[in-house]
Amino acid sequence: ETQSSKTPLAIRLCAPRGFCAGVDRAIQIVDLALEKYGRPVYVRHEIVHNKYVVDGLRDKGAVFVEELDEIPPSDRDRPVIFSAHGVPKSVPADAQERQMFYLDATCPLVSKVHKEAEIHFRRGREILLIGHAGHPEVIGTMGQLPDDTVTLIETEDDARAFQRQTDQPLAYITQTTLSVDDTAGIVSVLKDRFPDIVAPHKEDICYATTNRQEAVKEVAPTVEAMVVVGAPNSSNSQRLREVAERAGCRVSVLIQRASDINWPDFDGIGSLGLTAGASAPETLVEEIIDAFADRFDVAVETVRTAEETISFNLPRELRDMTGPTQ
Ligand code: SF4
Repeated sequence: ETQSSKTPLAIRLCAPRGFCAGVDRAIQIVDLALEKYGRPVYVRHEIVHNKYVVDGLRDKGAVFVEELDEIPPSDRDRPVIFSAHGVPKSVPADAQERQMFYLDATCPLVSKVHKEAEIHFRRGREILLIGHAGHPEVIGTMGQLPDDTVTLIETEDDARAFQRQTDQPLAYITQTTLSVDDTAGIVSVLKDRFPDIVAPHKEDICYATTNRQEAVKEVAPTVEAMVVVGAPNSSNSQRLREVAERAGCRVSVLIQRASDINWPDFDGIGSLGLTAGASAPETLVEEIIDAFADRFDVAVETVRTAEETISFNLPRELRDMTGPTQ
């Protein structure tokens, strides 16, 4: 037996972490479409915000585009898949006009928010969307309704400054991947100012976002540093990094791969929290544990704050692809 000369490091793995049911379904849609229709299959926008996942699907024959007009006319007979974040109404309309066959990988929990927006609109309500400007989900949700129908609220300051455009009743909806705490703050400003504002029946922030933030809140106060595995353009991953920072982790970083680790950040630490955003595969978490194990004498413990059993149906066109058990 060799005595390890490495410093001990207690790694506390947050659970739940990583893939949610919406991401899992979206990736499966691309995989099954490739199997059923052959290559290439077009995907509008990164199917989920993770480079490793996107590169893997590209290797199998998926072609990623930002807009449908990037698809060459000679490939108009190929399927196109819309990403998990959802798309404005104009996108399926455009696909139909181009006579393209499309599969919609929009997460059902995003579609639910789209439906809420439509119901508020039909009932003549003025709609606020709490979310981050420029995120594809926000673009998709706002794009369910005519331009300038929905007002975006990003911060408590926005909520304080908001001026009603109409004398219709107000309603709000939210992005699914927000900070639970920040959103509560914004909602409380809105409720103070507009006590009659109509709220979602059930939280629009999804179960996966909520559970991953809860797990980080549990672990963060007990460790010196937190590593969140995820992409910089992944909203829910960014929120996890912030939650850990606010909970007092001296170091809280969002990284995509082990090669992104800035080792001096972790000099002399004895405890580390580790989690992954909803679009980050578990294999990247393992890669990061291995990288720490090369430098430290690691002991890994899982801290579970919720069980997740939810899964979503595939689009009808692909249901015959998954064998007799489904
Ligand atoms: Fe759906 Fe939530 Fe996953 Fe987004 S994070 S894909 S809303 S389950």
